[in-house]
Amino acid sequence: MFTCPLCGRTSHNPHDAAQKYCGHCHVFDDEVMAVYTITTNTKDYGQRFVVRVHRVIKGTTEPRADAEPLAVAETLEQARHALPDGLFNLGRDPQDDPVIVESWV
Ligand SMILES: [Zn+2]
Repeated sequence: MFTCPLCGRTSHNPHDAAQKYCGHCHVFDDEVMAVYTITTNTKDYGQRFVVRVHRVIKGTTEPRADAEPLAVAETLEQARHALPDGLFNLGRDPQDDPVIVESWV
């Protein structure tokens, strides 16, 4: 059984599970890289810190954002707490959107 990180569909095809392949998205799991972004001062959430997941697919340039935020926190510390373990803090790029506090991979 394999659940796709992009569309959330679960495949019960044993071949898909072995290869971690989503027939709906036509991607293999190892072609998808998750980037976690913490934002603040956004229209929707104001001063709160919002953790969002963007998934970058090998061979494409436009990351897909998950529809729902991973977490909404009152402080940056709390937002960081919602991140999975083992990530690396990329900080922010001067070209990033002003709402972006930092990105993690
Ligand atoms: Zn999928």
